[in-house]
Amino acid sequence: MVRVTLLGCGGTQPLPQRALSALAVSAGGSTVLIDCGEGTQAACRRWGVNLFRIDAVLLTHYHGDHIFGLPGLWQTMAGMGRTAPLLMAGPPGLEALVRAFLTVAGPLPFALRTLELERCRGQFEVSPAVLEAFPLKHRVDCCGYAYRLPRAGRFDPARARAANIPLAYWSRLQAGETVGRFTPDMVLGPRRRGLKVVYGADTRPCRALAEAARDADLLCMDATYADDADADKAKLYGHSTCRQAGALAAGAGARRLWLTHYSAAVTDPTPGLLAARAAFPAAVAGEDGMSVDLFFDET
Ligand SMILES: [Zn+2]
Ligand SMILES: [Zn+2]
Repeated sequence: MVRVTLLGCGGTQPLPQRALSALAVSAGGSTVLIDCGEGTQAACRRWGVNLFRIDAVLLTHYHGDHIFGLPGLWQTMAGMGRTAPLLMAGPPGLEALVRAFLTVAGPLPFALRTLELERCRGQFEVSPAVLEAFPLKHRVDCCGYAYRLPRAGRFDPARARAANIPLAYWSRLQAGETVGRFTPDMVLGPRRRGLKVVYGADTRPCRALAEAARDADLLCMDATYADDADADKAKLYGHSTCRQAGALAAGAGARRLWLTHYSAAVTDPTPGLLAARAAFPAAVAGEDGMSVDLFFDET
């Protein structure tokens, strides 16, 4: 199961009812935090995301509304006695940013492991998930992220019996472990569809995001502007309108769409939601604290 919690759906500046960008994605007791706008640690507490369980912070880009929560989050983690290393990933410039933030938040009792994603490309593991970065279209280098929870093939007891594999090994093989000379592929069928959550902000609609979002269980996408009349402004500033987000999700065959990163000028998201639903009827207007549990398909 993957739990996704939208910690903040605002862009540019925090509002009383709308915190800045951050999304928590959790599976198997491990949480990946995508972006860390000002106030993210408070949003985590408010919406039930355990700060101890955060194993990685992935930054999309270095505009303030996506990163100003970071030094405070580190300090709180330190105060809670964290010693486990924290993975930090982001576009080039990450190491300089971490150094700069450490001058106000450091030294820390835990290690920061930085992963600079050259050209916003790269694949890495935050067990049990596999993360993939891809380049978005913003005014600065900006990474989108696909979070995947893989699913092993179906266990075949007949093959296990035929290969004379002791019963005591079955569950370990089923969990993907090699036991002695027995390997999982001896007893597992082809891999089944896993789960995929895609985060695409800040960005104009672009092909890399459409490809990443193909068949995604959930796409959480930049929907800065609710009014179609702002399409030129969206293009100029490297953002999307709600309608564009709906069109991209529909084209990609995503199963769910959450609109996020609303401009502070969007006081009522309803017109934008209706515009997004023109192409993608299941679109949902982002709201702080919104959460969904995603499960593997029945088959
Ligand atoms: Zn932003
Ligand atoms: Zn930005």
